[in-house]
Amino acid sequence: MISAAAELIRQADRILVICHVAPDGDAIGSLLGLGRALEKLGKHPVLACADPVPRLYRYLPGQENITAHPQGEFDLVISLDCSDLQRLGAPFKEADVAGKPIINIDHHITNVNFGTVNWVDTSAAATAQMVLELVEYLGVPLDPDMATCLLNGIVTDTQGFRTPNTTPRVVAAALRLMEAGASLPYIAQQVFNRRPISQIRLWARALTEMQLDGRVLWATITPDMRRDCQMTEDGDGGLVGFLVSAVEADVAIVFAQQEDGTVEVSMRAVPGIDVSGVAFSLGGGGHPQAAGCKLQPPLEEAQRRVLQAVKEALRRQTGQ
Ligand code: 5GP
Ligand code: MN
Repeated sequence: MISAAAELIRQADRILVICHVAPDGDAIGSLLGLGRALEKLGKHPVLACADPVPRLYRYLPGQENITAHPQGEFDLVISLDCSDLQRLGAPFKEADVAGKPIINIDHHITNVNFGTVNWVDTSAAATAQMVLELVEYLGVPLDPDMATCLLNGIVTDTQGFRTPNTTPRVVAAALRLMEAGASLPYIAQQVFNRRPISQIRLWARALTEMQLDGRVLWATITPDMRRDCQMTEDGDGGLVGFLVSAVEADVAIVFAQQEDGTVEVSMRAVPGIDVSGVAFSLGGGGHPQAAGCKLQPPLEEAQRRVLQAVKEALRRQTGQ
């Protein structure tokens, strides 16, 4: 698969490189790292994402070049860290790419193989790890900026080398990136150790109202709560990862309602429990320990559906 991907890249010139909506550190890091590598190969990549780069990742070199409106013609599309076409959002729909080949590079177990070439490696801890392997396969020399972007993807998707898929292979990939000039402590400081107080206030609000239902710990974020705390970004700022640290819980869920009413559902599970199937059955996707979906309002109905599906999955998986 890596050879088929490399072959398509060698033949192409103007390449649309695109990641999923509501991008995370792996999506942005992979996009920027691959973009730089393609430029070094003499290609003309355009980097696209439906949503703005989250504040947390604005320290990454080149992030200001990511566009939501890719212009002109393309002869190849490379999709990164995205499990279905829908999740590429508006820039893919609007771009001039009809009939052009798509390389689908991803590590989600829920990937639906929508590409012309599907390189989906569920044993990879991050898409950035796969991008590094592709860059090396293409023979492009790493530079410190490229290495920083790719290591950002690995560090964020493994939550600082703590997830169950942290293998010797991904640690070795991180080592090569450090040797190429990326600083692990600098990246960790940027992505884990700094957050705006508005986010801490929002967590405080959500935490006072969280609920434990069996071994499922869940919390809600509404647009009103966001306004009260002056929190401008979507999502939960990582709250769900904090909730799943509760020893009384096997699964944590955050329901983050957006201005338009859509309910963004973020799920986390302890090692040994798999929530990717629940997310997929509700139209979303993800990994065994981290998955999500988007549901229509009303909020209470979305919560009821998700809680019921999660509790059913827990019963099946634990036999209780
Ligand atoms: P998070 O909870 O951090 O937003 O997402 C956790 C994981 O689930 C990530 O790998 C993310 O890509 C995936 N995910 C979250 N929401 C959706 C969704 O609506 N659709 C799909 N296909 N994957 C999602
Ligand atoms: Mn990823």
